[in-house]
Amino acid sequence: MRIPILASLLALSGSLCCGQSLVSADSASGPTSEPKKPISFDLSAIDKTADPCTNFYQYACGNWVKNNPIPSDQVRWGRFNEVADRNNYLLYNELMSAADAPKTPLQKKYGDYFAACMNVDLVDKLGAKPIEPELATIDNWKDRGSFAALDLQLTREYGDAKLFSVAVEQDEKDSSQQILGSGQGGLTLPDRDYYLNDDARSEKLRQQYLVHLKKMFVLLGDTEERAATEAASVMRIETALAKGSMSRVDQRDPAKTYHVMTVADLDALTPAFDWHSYLDGLGLYGDGPGKTKSLDIESPGYIKAVNEELTNETPEALKSYLRWQVLHKWARTLSKPYREENFDFFSATLYGQKEDQPRWKQCTALTDRALGEAVGQDWVQQNFPPDAKANMEKLVAALEKALSEDIASLPWMSDATKKEAEAKLAAFRQKIGYPEKWRDYSSLAVKRDDFLGNSERTVIFATKRNLAKLGKPVDEKEWGMTPPTVNAYYNPPQNDINFPAGILQPPFYSNAMDPAVNFGGIGVVIGHEMTHGFDDQGAKYDLHGNVRTWFTPEDLTKFQAKTGCIADEYSGFKVAEGQNLNGKLTLGENTADNGGLRIAFQALQETIAADPDKALGGYTTDKPSTAEKDGYTPAQRFFIGFGQVWCQNQTEQVARVLAKTDPHSSGEWRTNGSVQNFDEFGKAFGCKVGQPMMPTNSCRVW
Ligand SMILES: [Zn+2]
Repeated sequence: MRIPILASLLALSGSLCCGQSLVSADSASGPTSEPKKPISFDLSAIDKTADPCTNFYQYACGNWVKNNPIPSDQVRWGRFNEVADRNNYLLYNELMSAADAPKTPLQKKYGDYFAACMNVDLVDKLGAKPIEPELATIDNWKDRGSFAALDLQLTREYGDAKLFSVAVEQDEKDSSQQILGSGQGGLTLPDRDYYLNDDARSEKLRQQYLVHLKKMFVLLGDTEERAATEAASVMRIETALAKGSMSRVDQRDPAKTYHVMTVADLDALTPAFDWHSYLDGLGLYGDGPGKTKSLDIESPGYIKAVNEELTNETPEALKSYLRWQVLHKWARTLSKPYREENFDFFSATLYGQKEDQPRWKQCTALTDRALGEAVGQDWVQQNFPPDAKANMEKLVAALEKALSEDIASLPWMSDATKKEAEAKLAAFRQKIGYPEKWRDYSSLAVKRDDFLGNSERTVIFATKRNLAKLGKPVDEKEWGMTPPTVNAYYNPPQNDINFPAGILQPPFYSNAMDPAVNFGGIGVVIGHEMTHGFDDQGAKYDLHGNVRTWFTPEDLTKFQAKTGCIADEYSGFKVAEGQNLNGKLTLGENTADNGGLRIAFQALQETIAADPDKALGGYTTDKPSTAEKDGYTPAQRFFIGFGQVWCQNQTEQVARVLAKTDPHSSGEWRTNGSVQNFDEFGKAFGCKVGQPMMPTNSCRVW
């Protein structure tokens, strides 16, 4: 499916594979204890045997890393997970009471959704029955020429197109318009590289994937022989689609992903798929409101690969592929044998997860994903203090001022480009906490005894809701994350920064903490999101959210050299044996980390200067810049507060998958990469030029 453009603070929770993996045998029991509340500035996390000038991450996080091994139902464990785990626990309590004794119709709806998910006895009794109607529709398909008709039926009845996505999106060149787009998709493994690389590790994983495919088909009732043939067909088709797919690095470039084509031209390009009748069947083809005769194709190469597969593969092989797509998509909602086999390959083999998450965690996360703005209404009332929003607005204003000063002082940028950058910054919009207007779920039917049906109806609801946007004005108040989410994002076509309620708590923010620690935490997060507007991707959009080059040609050349420095630097950072980060894939996030740290530090200096008494939360008055608390100056507390947001452990398997797929660097490099490019860090800790955290060849963009 088309990768969402949101430049988030970390990988969206659903995309880190196993978060929603499968459901455990130990399904009926709830949480055993309340997770402890994470704290800001954790002295016990610091490894004082480490030299902050040699490896700052080890210094700030060493003891945390040692004392917080990855829980057996996780593949990655860091400060974000601590907060999310607690949010999930609070949400679970809310869902339980809504399931038992709902007080409002909305509580009844999400309580029933949660209860249906928790009813594992019924789920296990049903086996694969809930997906039989969709599989029967696929089995009955005979005519190669009518693939679009089959896909139309599957889209209408089950929610989404196969092989590629069709969705309404903001027009990249005219952000006031919403147009229809189609993105590449169709692969099951995490990236096209998994099908195409010929190293021993990739070869072995493909063999394991084939075994998994075969086992899943056998579970459906196919003979061993037929299952083997089907598995081979799936692998062959997915490999061909992988060859036609655009790389993740290219997908970050709006110039490479924008191809508006008429439906007539598209039909000529892909004779095996009748776009005209497909869109007509969805009520989208034509002139007038809510209709169109053109599409923005993300990857024409991929569309051609689809056409070749539809032309060259037999209907039997295509049916195997479609059966697999259905089976895989719903495996986690089927009975235990499917869940266990799915876990063995996708969670254990691919990501190194030891055991699956308890069912309550899965059902809580699934309910939040399906009905987040229903659940979130009650959640924010309980968990989002009224003054948090006003405090955040103050911090955002301080960061905006610092970024404006940073732009004005950049030695390499001409006044003409600075003017454009300032205008873009001034046009930033912000959303904090939760939506002003909540989503209307009244047309989504939820049944207490139909877990898979609820899941399907949720997909259909989301698809219909999205397609209904065609030709309508953009809703600038809409959110791309639910309120309890521990994350934040910048959205280039809307030029807005967004901070869900879930992240506005320790270790990111605490009323009890001194400004240094809060600026090192949530301050850097805000600065990170703002800098996304000016990273290698965000800078391609202007103040209105339109793709337009607003740099002068000379400044653009200098900008590309500066971002190139960051890309080369991070490509040198190792995450596992023989596996480095991809500096081009992570360039936007690394640029945002570096800029965010710099402007948050600047904003802290100004805050301290304006009110020295508060420099360390009232602990000192005479020399705020050198006074200490817990043995650290405000500058040191800022950097430690920042580093401790990124303390984490992850399995080696996850480190390898994320190096190929995640635009974010690992916690270690988000910390060390950022501080070694910022000489204020070296000064704060008395480092000498030439030490690892104060190199002579550091990079700077903003
Ligand atoms: Zn980001």
